[in-house]
Amino acid sequence: MSILRVILGDQLTDSISSLEGCDKTRDTILMSEVVEEATFIPHHKKKLTFIFSAMRHFSLELKNQGFNVVYNKLNDPNNSGSLTGEILRLIKNYSFEKILITSPSEFRVLQEIELLGEKIEIPLEILRDSRYFVNIHDFKKWSENKKQLRMENFYRDQRKKNFILMNGFNPIGGQWNFDSYNRKSFDFESKIPQPFINPPDEITNEVMKMVSDTFPEHFGDIEPFNFAVNRSQALEAFKLFIDNRLFYFGDFQDAMVQGEPWMFHSHISFYLNIGLLLPKECVSEAEKAYFEGKAPLNSVEGFIRQVLGWREFIRGIYWLKMPEYLENNFFEASRNLPQMYWTGETKMNCLSQCINETKENAYAHHIQRLMVLGNFALIAGIDPKQVNNWFYVVYADAYEWVELPNVSGMILFADGGLVSSKPYASTGSYINKMSNYCESCEYKVAIKNGSDACPFNYLYWDFLQRNREKLSSNFRMSMMYKTYDRMDSAKKQNIRDDSEKFLNSLGN
Ligand SMILES: Cc1cc2nc3c(=O)[nH]c(=O)nc-3n(C[C@H](O)[C@H](O)[C@H](O)COP(=O)(O)OP(=O)(O)OC[C@H]3O[C@@H](n4cnc5c(N)ncnc54)[C@H](O)[C@@H]3O)c2cc1C
Ligand code: SF4
Repeated sequence: MSILRVILGDQLTDSISSLEGCDKTRDTILMSEVVEEATFIPHHKKKLTFIFSAMRHFSLELKNQGFNVVYNKLNDPNNSGSLTGEILRLIKNYSFEKILITSPSEFRVLQEIELLGEKIEIPLEILRDSRYFVNIHDFKKWSENKKQLRMENFYRDQRKKNFILMNGFNPIGGQWNFDSYNRKSFDFESKIPQPFINPPDEITNEVMKMVSDTFPEHFGDIEPFNFAVNRSQALEAFKLFIDNRLFYFGDFQDAMVQGEPWMFHSHISFYLNIGLLLPKECVSEAEKAYFEGKAPLNSVEGFIRQVLGWREFIRGIYWLKMPEYLENNFFEASRNLPQMYWTGETKMNCLSQCINETKENAYAHHIQRLMVLGNFALIAGIDPKQVNNWFYVVYADAYEWVELPNVSGMILFADGGLVSSKPYASTGSYINKMSNYCESCEYKVAIKNGSDACPFNYLYWDFLQRNREKLSSNFRMSMMYKTYDRMDSAKKQNIRDDSEKFLNSLGN
């Protein structure tokens, strides 16, 4: 008898565990575009286009290799609209000895699959996803008996375990982390290279039309569409990063420049998360670039720390803490997400830039997400569920396993300090130091209070003051509270008044 092998939309690699040992003459592979996954939250139109197009390209590659693939398009008249519905539809008409599926990356989908397994008579086996450096059981073991879970410790262990950038037992260069070298503001003399450009082919064009016809209300622009949609294109996009951008990745990792959404970043998160690229190959190519003298250590270590350290750590936290993690709200923040996050219409130039670029590209780089969009959501006290929803909708790389700990943990401190040791809150001066956004802003970053003042300047202190009870015992915040306490009472009152006026003006 044959085996049914189910491949999900973010499992697009022929090294996925559910394909291991596949018998081309007998087994069937099922891939389905389903409206339930496209609409349980209204994903950015470019994200949907990317995922469906990459799925179609991958299914064709499998067919060309001689696999027997059943591919159900979203607009097939018989499509049931849900993943489990599509599995049930197929097993009704064919007899399979068992069903194999690689463990879904999201808790919600895993629950659905487990429930299906209880309902049907055919055995359903859920296999480990072997694409990561660390499996979730090992992460759990690593986390046991630790007072605090810190990415830096996890990352060092992984460097040693996988022998990456190591010199015997020591890190190459004599230190584990070169982050302090990676905070240069942009010098405007280095030229920012063109990002990867891949005009839509016939398949992508068909998907673009389907997505714009079916989901006209969803956020975001479909065009221009330049993402890689198959593995060879994704490899090309990654090579472009290694050859043209990795050299400066470290230096300008935190820099933001008006009208330059891509900077020296790799733009591979969407390819990694969907399976077109594998984390191990990306880390090893970056390490090779260092050994070949193509890029300096601060860049290569910085990039490797993101993929081997942050990405794996974030995934570990997700599976360790779900589903309770969804409910975290340490500061009891309750303000509605301001409409400007959807329209980009605001006098705050930094926010307007980052939101409009997000709308156009379904991408913003890390510092835009962290220090502009996230920082504002944190200090304005926006409800974590609404902030999570926004970040989940708008980015082409957003899957709950990676979006949720970054938003609730890294930017909102909603988990009370599990992911970060202190909130990433700042005044406008950090944004001014790392970008040229303030030069074209209607607000003045140097002014601290009043109608012309940069809102980050007073909202930051107001946030500290509002949450004093919860934060003052955090020793990393004590300096800031000392500074606040030295302010005179008129200044403190101005901070409160300006914040209240500004937050009321958001119309929520
Ligand atoms: C509020 C917020 C929300 C985020 N949401 C997502 C998300 O939904 N999906 C997502 O993949 N990343 C998310 N990130 C992490 C990071 O911002 C993106 O991975 C990165 O911006 C993608 O661009 P890049 O490929 O050019 O990354 P680069 O800057 O070139 O970094 C290289 C790679 O490292 C990995 N990486 C770096 N930082 C992180 C991190 N904190 N967590 C996980 N992986 C990381 C990514 O795979 C990335 O492709 C979020 C970060 C923040 C602050
Ligand atoms: S002045 Fe303030 S609001 Fe304007 S761009 Fe700078 S940081 Fe943003």
